[in-house]
Amino acid sequence: MEINESFKNDTTVAYISMEIGVDSNIPTYSGGLGVLSGDTVRSAADLELPVVGICLCYSSGYFYQFFNEFGDQKEREIEWNFFYEFERVPEPITVKIEDKDVKVSAWQYNVIGQSGHLLPIYLLTTDVEGNEDWMKQMTGSLYDSTSKWNRIVQEMILGIGGVKLLKSLGYNNIQTYHLNEGHGSFAMVELYNMLNGDIEKVKEKMVFTTHTPVPAGHDRFKQELVDKVFKKRMPSKIKKLADDNGEFNMTYLGMALSRYRNGVAKKHGDISRKMFPQYEIDHITNGVHLPFWCSKPFRKIFSRKWPNWRSNPQLLENAIELDDLDIFDAHIENKFNLISYQKGHSWNLLDEELITFGFARRFATYKRAVLIFHEIDRLGKICKNAVQFIFAGKAHPKDQMGKDYIKEIHEAGEYLYNNYGVKVVMMENYNMDLSHMLVSGVDVWLNTPDRYREASGTSGMKAALNGVPNFSVQDGWWLEGYKRNPLAGWVIGPDDSNPDDPGVSNSWDIDANAFYEVLENQIIPTYMNHDEWIFRQKNAISLAAYFNTHRMIREYAKKAYLLKKQTRWKYIS
Ligand SMILES: *Cc1c(COP(=O)(O)O)cnc(C)c1O
Repeated sequence: MEINESFKNDTTVAYISMEIGVDSNIPTYSGGLGVLSGDTVRSAADLELPVVGICLCYSSGYFYQFFNEFGDQKEREIEWNFFYEFERVPEPITVKIEDKDVKVSAWQYNVIGQSGHLLPIYLLTTDVEGNEDWMKQMTGSLYDSTSKWNRIVQEMILGIGGVKLLKSLGYNNIQTYHLNEGHGSFAMVELYNMLNGDIEKVKEKMVFTTHTPVPAGHDRFKQELVDKVFKKRMPSKIKKLADDNGEFNMTYLGMALSRYRNGVAKKHGDISRKMFPQYEIDHITNGVHLPFWCSKPFRKIFSRKWPNWRSNPQLLENAIELDDLDIFDAHIENKFNLISYQKGHSWNLLDEELITFGFARRFATYKRAVLIFHEIDRLGKICKNAVQFIFAGKAHPKDQMGKDYIKEIHEAGEYLYNNYGVKVVMMENYNMDLSHMLVSGVDVWLNTPDRYREASGTSGMKAALNGVPNFSVQDGWWLEGYKRNPLAGWVIGPDDSNPDDPGVSNSWDIDANAFYEVLENQIIPTYMNHDEWIFRQKNAISLAAYFNTHRMIREYAKKAYLLKKQTRWKYIS
């Protein structure tokens, strides 16, 4: 397939995201948002949707994480050779920043769908000949936090640069710009100018997805900073729409100027509607790309049972019909694979015989990675000779609390080993490759966030797909997952039926206590009964019939992308 005039004319959706995790080794992602974007474009390509992606190309990526002997996180810049993976787009465009014309060029990365459909992603960079050195640094690293100036400039390149680049490449038929989170909202400024200041026309073209249920998590800039980088070029109408008590709020702008808005799970939709009562906000629950996240042994089993499960994930609904021994063998293969990898990568050696709990995600404070150590001696007594833990995850370089949690895990691990022989391992440099191994190789997937903070979460969906039951606080996707099938795992603490009392329901005492009780009285005894455990694994797999990006992108296509006038798309009914 070739990108020619007719390909460009057929392309009607531009997907704009600060992170797109196209490959574990291409550092254009830091966590869930990027992994979701990657899974989204993979499914869009499989379903032959006419989508083009826009992201930035970070010359030094996010960062490589390692630990010193005290368990402190250390960071190193990553070197990577994107020159060999990508094709350079010939002509740069310019984005005006302050008084300067900054040249912005792009690398093209092709996502190829199952049937060969091509979905191009353009990764924008300012590392272009003719730019001054300080300009070349603009797209240096993802979520560069050296200053707010860096951040706003990156978002100008993404939003304004993205729209301009597509136009210069000849994509003249884009009818939907899908902003995946507010980082890309400046696209609206560019469209506003292109459409001669017609707000309604801008709105007709925009779709906005919010991913953050916490107001502090929304991107905001001081007006002076906006004036500094835009000079007089920021239209006053747009300023007004984005105004948040004197600050420029990217989410406000995204909400105000979109024809369709959504949150990323049912509960997150409720929360978003409460935060923005003036807008109609829908929800589309996230998913994962099943063929990408399914481990080899399970791929084999699924393909034998349902030859076209990849294009028809609904088939996994019947996972209960899978053969017990097949499930057992496949899981053991994954578990051995993880543990032998682990033995090569840390001094603390895990044991194949024990129930292995996994926890891996960004170390944002609200995820409460250390909740299980709340009553550490109780944990030690329950887990002695029965349970071990494996952790992974990066803390943002500026997040001291997240870094303290990482250190605390190292210290708790030492205490538990010395006093109870219980092993706790923290693996370095969490990325998509490690995630593949963890979500399939552990026995139970753990998640302990503060309620109503986890917009969706997706790693638990990957685990379920690979026959690993979830053990999680009822938030994000798991509120839905557990309701769909209570045999697919276990819950920690109360559900969301008492929304007036979030403070109490997020009590560390209550949640940790619930964790210990369920662990001791339900999970360990169930594990001891082979048949019962495999039954649970099958129920976990059945969740993948729903929590996948094929289902998700079809919902986006129907509710958000497909305009009435357009012809129908092949795989969207
Ligand atoms: C899946 C994945 C995530 C998302 O994890 P959550 O459970 O949503 O927090 C983050 N990082 C990596 C590398 C992943 O593969």
